[in-house]
Amino acid sequence: MTEKQKEDLRLEIPSYAWISLARRGMEKISLDQCFLKNCDNEDPKLLEPFEKKEFEEENKHIKIISIKCKKCNGIFKFKLETLKKVAKPTIKSKGEDDDEGALSMGIVYALDENDNNLGHIGYF
Ligand SMILES: [Zn+2]
Repeated sequence: MTEKQKEDLRLEIPSYAWISLARRGMEKISLDQCFLKNCDNEDPKLLEPFEKKEFEEENKHIKIISIKCKKCNGIFKFKLETLKKVAKPTIKSKGEDDDEGALSMGIVYALDENDNNLGHIGYF
């Protein structure tokens, strides 16, 4: 993979995810960090995306981006699930927003090198 491709890959990772804090609303967390245990790397320069897989599941588009952390030398993956537009009732009142929001609804998970789920990070 060329440097250019790596940069492009970086752009496919959302900068932030939103975590739901029950009654306290949503909190924004940066995805520019290493999600492996015992690693506190938050320097995007030490995180190198190097591989991408994309596929479709029932109602989802799935993108898995592998990232090498240059601090702990580990590899982790972001699994980005984007829900496809679901059929909705077409009744709409005037001036109501188009449901563009529904289109970009996504969930991000962290996986380790062997695809073990490290946990649901949040929404993007
Ligand atoms: Zn790390």
